[in-house]
Amino acid sequence: MKRLNFTLDDETIALLYRIAEQYYHGNKSLAVRAAVESLAAHLGHEGWVVAGFVPVEVDNDAECHICHRHFEPGETLYRPVFRKGRAPQALPHLPREQWLECSDCAQGLAHE
Ligand SMILES: [Zn+2]
Repeated sequence: MKRLNFTLDDETIALLYRIAEQYYHGNKSLAVRAAVESLAAHLGHEGWVVAGFVPVEVDNDAECHICHRHFEPGETLYRPVFRKGRAPQALPHLPREQWLECSDCAQGLAHE
């Protein structure tokens, strides 16, 4: 255990007191811990998340990883670039399979 010192505005303090009073027998430390745990769960788990895409001109028949649409040689698909991060859809391991996405699917993911 360690004592932390941080600054909150009046509104947040009032909210913390109210939550601590209502749910944690007035124990503000327990209320803060529950809030942080809840936030962590909401933010998702640690893993690999898509940071962006690199355009790739395919030289074989290819398929979008997400919607499975078929693409001819010479068309442009998008290869994801992964980084470590936290997200509900974070992958536990880097994918081993070929992963290309069409522009529609890549734009959907990139905006999450
Ligand atoms: Zn697609």
